[in-house]
Amino acid sequence: MDDCIFCKIANGDIPSATIYEDRNVRVILDIAPAAKGHAIMIPKTHMADIFDADAETISKISAAIPMVASAIKKELGCDGINILQNNGAAAGQTVNHLHIHFIPRYNNDNVKIGWEQGSYADGEAAELAKKIASRV
Ligand code: 5GP
Ligand code: ZN
Repeated sequence: MDDCIFCKIANGDIPSATIYEDRNVRVILDIAPAAKGHAIMIPKTHMADIFDADAETISKISAAIPMVASAIKKELGCDGINILQNNGAAAGQTVNHLHIHFIPRYNNDNVKIGWEQGSYADGEAAELAKKIASRV
């Protein structure tokens, strides 16, 4: 994708603060971090989002997740890390090239990631699970 900034960053056409690179991904520090050390893993091939991805590519890019998470935790001494991935504007995606966030977390920090807990009526969860399962 010629006009995709993450294609350019992942392939080294635009310099970035890189913390890890292999043949499938580049992991860089996010330019507007939720916390210092917030990193994004960017695949070197263009996929808009998870709906545009295939299992083999996801498997290859995911291989480095534990190593990257551990490196961030070791260096920052954070208490936890959120690993998350947004798909679609409704889900907070602002760059339409699939990427995975690593957000360092500290006990009692002010980073906001969350939702209010909802609920199901009797039998509703089982029914919905069955419907979704039929589409897997
Ligand atoms: P999204 O909201 O799509 O899940 O996340 C996009 C992330 O990419 C944001 O956290 C944003 O700060 C980061 N970002 C956008 N453009 C650039 C850039 O040019 N360089 C870097 N390092 N991060 C970027
Ligand atoms: Zn791209």
